[in-house]
Amino acid sequence: MRFTNFTNSVNPVFVTAPNIDTIVSLAKRRGFVFPSSEIYGGLGSAWDYGPLGVELANNVKQSWWRWLVYERDDIEGIDSSIILNRLVWKYSGHEATFHDPLVDCRECKTRMRADKLEGYFPEGGGEFNPNERIRAGLVKCAECGSTNLTEERFFNMMFRTTLGAAASDEDPSALAYLRPETAQGIFINFLNVQTTMRRKLPFGIAQVGKSFRNEITPGNFILRTREFEQMEMEYFVKPDAEHLKLVDEWVALYLEWFKGLGIDGANLKLHEVPQGELAHYSKRTVDIMYRYFPEREEEERQWEELMGIAYRTDFDLRSHSSKPVDEESKRINPDSTEDLSYFDESAKQRFYPHVIEPAAGVNRTLLAVLMDAYSERTNDKGETRVILKLSPQLAPIKAAILPLAKNKPEIVGMAKAIKRSLQPVLRAVYDDTGGIGKLYARQDEIGTPFCVTVDHQSLEDEAVTVRDRDTWEQERIKVTDLAEHLQKRLKPFPIVTPEVS
Ligand code: ATP
Repeated sequence: MRFTNFTNSVNPVFVTAPNIDTIVSLAKRRGFVFPSSEIYGGLGSAWDYGPLGVELANNVKQSWWRWLVYERDDIEGIDSSIILNRLVWKYSGHEATFHDPLVDCRECKTRMRADKLEGYFPEGGGEFNPNERIRAGLVKCAECGSTNLTEERFFNMMFRTTLGAAASDEDPSALAYLRPETAQGIFINFLNVQTTMRRKLPFGIAQVGKSFRNEITPGNFILRTREFEQMEMEYFVKPDAEHLKLVDEWVALYLEWFKGLGIDGANLKLHEVPQGELAHYSKRTVDIMYRYFPEREEEERQWEELMGIAYRTDFDLRSHSSKPVDEESKRINPDSTEDLSYFDESAKQRFYPHVIEPAAGVNRTLLAVLMDAYSERTNDKGETRVILKLSPQLAPIKAAILPLAKNKPEIVGMAKAIKRSLQPVLRAVYDDTGGIGKLYARQDEIGTPFCVTVDHQSLEDEAVTVRDRDTWEQERIKVTDLAEHLQKRLKPFPIVTPEVS
C-alpha cells in the first residue's frame, strides 16, 4: 500500500486501490459492474457491465485495436464465430488437453484447482509427480491449510452444447463447444486473411471477443470468470526468425501499452513460465503480472496474470493442415481440406509460419486500470473523496456539463446546448441532480476528467468554468473555445518508454 501527496494538497491519499473489494463496491455504487442475476441470488462469478463499465471496456478495446490494427501496418483484424466446428478443438489439442487438475479438501470439503495451491510445484521447477506430492502432504488447501487432499483428477474446461433443434444431449455428432480462446478462429482463417489481404510475413491477425472456460474456482470479482473477453493477436513469422527475442519485444511493447493506459510500472512485473508448466503448444511463455492483491503481506502473493505472451511455434497451423504426415506416412489430420502453409516468393520455399501470441484479457485489464486509477483525497472540510484518475482516453465520460442553478431556465438551456455542441467531438453528459459539490464529487468518483459549470455570469460573458478532476483547479473558458480547449487537454497520457524488469 503506498501513500503520496498531491502537489497541491497537504493531505495524504491512496494512489491505488487498497484491495479488490474497494473496486467491487465502487463499481456497483457507480454503475460500472453489477453482480449478474442478482435478483435470483446471483450466478457464481458472473458480472454485468453497467452504463459506465461498458464505456470503459469499449475504450480499452478501442485503444488496443487502434494501437495494433490502425497504428501499425502489419496487423489485420477479424471477428470469428464463438461456436466453431468441433474438429477445430480436436486438432488444436483442446479436447484432449485443455483441462485443469482438480482436488478436494477432505477436511473443509472445498474443491480447488490443484496447480494454484501452495506446494504443488517443486521449488526450482523440474520433473514432478503431483499425486506423489499430494500423498506426501506437501500440497496445502487454500481454504483451511490442511494437506488432507484427494489425488488430482482432470476436468476439461470447455463448455459443451448441442447444435440443432432435434439434437439430443447425448448425440456426439451434435456436440459443440463455446470457444475457450479466440486464437483458434484466427488460425483457421490464416490463409483467408493472408491471401485476401495479400500479406507477406511477418504479419499479425488480431481479434477481440468472448471466451468461455468452466473454471473450477472462479472468483476475485472479474479477475477469473467463466465468461470473459480476450484481446488476442497471432503474429506470424518465418520458421528461422528469432522467436525467443520476438517474445521479449512483444513483452516490452505491451508493458508500454499498459503504462500508456495509466498503469504504474511498479504494479507490473514479468513471470517467465517454467518449462514444466508450459501449455502443450508453447516453447516459451512470459506472463505480465499485475499487483491485484496489494493488501497481502507477502510480496510473492500480491500478483496474478494480466496477460501472457507465448511462442506457439507452428503447432496450430501445422495441426490444422491437411498435408503433414506421421512416421508411417499417415496424414496427421485426415479431416482438414486445406493446407495452411505459406509460400515465400523470395526464397522459393513453402513452410508453416511460426507464431508469437500476445493474449490479454479485457476484464483483467479493466480491473487493473480501475485499481491503478483509484485514489482518495481529503478536502478542506476533512471529507474523504474518491477520485478515479483514469487516463482521459479511457474515461467513460470526458466532460460533465453542470448548471449552477437548475431552476433558472436560461442557465439550464445554455448548459444543455453546450452538452449537445460537445457531443460530436467527445462524450459529454448533462447533470443537474444535486448541488454543485455533490455533482463534482460524483464525477470525480467515476473518473470524468472535466466538469464544465454554467453560472449566472455565463449568461453575460459567454464563458464557463472548467474544473480539472486531478488538481481541482478551475479556469474560465469562452464557450466558443471550449471544444478545442477540452480536446487539447484530453490527449492520451504520453506513452512511457518500456522497461523490461
Ligand atoms: P490463468 O493461468 O490465470 O488461468 P491462462 O494462462 O490460462 O490464465 P491464457 O490462456 O493465457 O490464460 O489467456 C489469456 C488471457 O485471457 C489471460 O492472461 C487473462 O487475461 C484472460 N483470461 C483467461 N482466463 C480468464 C478467466 N477465467 N477470466 C478472466 N480472464 C481470463
